[in-house]
Amino acid sequence: MCEVIVLFDGYSTKFTDGTMRANCSCTLIKASKNIIVDTMTAWDREKIIQALTQHDITPDEIDYVVCSHSHADHIGNNNLFTNAEHIVGTCVHRGELFFETDLKNEEYKLCPEVKVIATPGHTSDDVTVLIETIVSGRSTTFAITGDLFEKEEDILNPSIWKDVGTLELQKIQSEMRVYVINLADFIIPGHGSMFHVTDDMRKIVRDQVIR
Ligand SMILES: [Zn+2]
Repeated sequence: MCEVIVLFDGYSTKFTDGTMRANCSCTLIKASKNIIVDTMTAWDREKIIQALTQHDITPDEIDYVVCSHSHADHIGNNNLFTNAEHIVGTCVHRGELFFETDLKNEEYKLCPEVKVIATPGHTSDDVTVLIETIVSGRSTTFAITGDLFEKEEDILNPSIWKDVGTLELQKIQSEMRVYVINLADFIIPGHGSMFHVTDDMRKIVRDQVIR
């Protein structure tokens, strides 16, 4: 049994002058280990500390930091968590010690309820965190996807995620989106609020696979 707590909903807004206002979703998982996923920008340090305090956690009590990928808005406060093992994309390390894993090809289990899998597409090195827990008596899977799903709206408007990558990466991303949406009951996307997955969404995403 574990808890998935979205500390901050991600967002992204493009302006006509070409600038963008964006920050990532930041999620706390309280399981047999304490895990934080995506640590926002370097300007969010105090916000994160305060949000953790509200859930009775100090940064020193975090066991794992997972960054879905290494873009600036997803890694900004990793150094708050120096007691933790860090998984940044498929790179796993603790301080200057880097661990050999096969995360590109096989899942990496953090505790019985939580695992990390490679889901390339947004970058070639993205990962997704999968959490299996019980909600209202039902087994339920949460997927924290980073920018594999940017926001719920990118299902009906795929240009939102396609605009970012090369055609080769778009193909991989379109397949990975099917894989993850088929596993998940709830998705916490990189730059939007958590949403409940429906069969209609699964069908739409399946039809968007680029061949
Ligand atoms: Zn992002």
